[in-house]
Amino acid sequence: MSDVGGEGVRQLGIYIHIPFCKSKCSYCDFYSNPGNKSLISLYTKALCEHIAEGNLKNSDYEVDSIFFGGGTPTLIGENNLIKIVNTIYKNFNVLHECEVTVETNPNTVTLSMLKKLARAGFNRISIGAQSSNPFELSELGRIHTFDQVLRAVSYARTAKIENISIDLMFGIPNQTPDTWQSSVDNVIALNPSHISCYALKLEPGTKMHQNAASYLFPDEDTQADMYLKAVRQLADAGYEQYEISNFAKPGLECRHNLKYWSLGEYWGFGPSAHSFIGKLRFSYIRDTDLYINGVLKHGVIIDKSETGNAAERAGEYLMLMLRTTEGISSKVLEKKYLTYFEEIEKCLLKYHKQGLVEFDGVRWSLTPRGFLISNTIISDVLIALENSRGVVNKANIYKKI
Ligand code: SF4
Repeated sequence: MSDVGGEGVRQLGIYIHIPFCKSKCSYCDFYSNPGNKSLISLYTKALCEHIAEGNLKNSDYEVDSIFFGGGTPTLIGENNLIKIVNTIYKNFNVLHECEVTVETNPNTVTLSMLKKLARAGFNRISIGAQSSNPFELSELGRIHTFDQVLRAVSYARTAKIENISIDLMFGIPNQTPDTWQSSVDNVIALNPSHISCYALKLEPGTKMHQNAASYLFPDEDTQADMYLKAVRQLADAGYEQYEISNFAKPGLECRHNLKYWSLGEYWGFGPSAHSFIGKLRFSYIRDTDLYINGVLKHGVIIDKSETGNAAERAGEYLMLMLRTTEGISSKVLEKKYLTYFEEIEKCLLKYHKQGLVEFDGVRWSLTPRGFLISNTIISDVLIALENSRGVVNKANIYKKI
């Protein structure tokens, strides 16, 4: 991962949002329409037209990652997924070694589907398992079993999709350190290339948030112990942590994720999808009907857009890269974001003394204990950024480096 950009060829990620799910999980605030399958073919048509309009074939952009997320992408079936990915191949310069991921709910995949997807270039699958415990799955409103996760992994391997990621969640109502431990053990036993361990967050507007008082959540200390134990266990099993919640076998970090955190460029298609191209950030409306109509009738589909000034971009760099184990460096902050490091260094040193931040002589990053309070550390660093002595004189900085 490089965070100092260069001229010439530019790498681009493409994100495709599929806003359909079989039913809504109790904790989920992603934009998806449960049960609304009638729109699938019209949505696929609109998406393909939108991608074709975005044609960047004659540009410096090379696509090194394509990610189908949602929602439940596999719910729209392999033929629609293949139509969409073929439209991307036709309209963008897609690298031969491009990482092409499909997210899935384990009860929506079949062997024949994955074989067809593999032939069409899909080479990575991300399976939302969340837990191996049936009671926890039911609390989350998940409508699959752990056996279906096992089957999805075996289908993926038979279809020669070897790059497999599995999502797990801690902080689930009634979850105990023992049940969490067995979920982690059961997933490690499957030997996937990538494991994500997310903390359950109560998001406003979700069913779980509305009924929060009726759930018994593990307390903060228990959740911290669960997280730290999983970090150690995953390291022992050969998974390297590269972000607060993400662990991968060496070299198999998710390229799509890395683009978000390292301020790489990506173009998201579909309702609610976000993009970052050049210095522009924008997103599309969070409504499937309006998106389809907007694309097919050439109306407005942009929801928000902004360019951001130098200080905002420096803040973004600090906020995103401190989530990763690569962390931040004074050189990048000064050279790319023209911002002084002194105040930020003072702030980081305070946490360094407490063992929450580490420094390898070049880069500052959070330790696993630091990740547990990443929001506090990052907001302190952002305050330090505000107190910094303004923007560095560009000419002096280039002399210095
Ligand atoms: S399957 Fe995924 S996107 Fe759909 S409701 Fe559940 S968590 Fe949300």
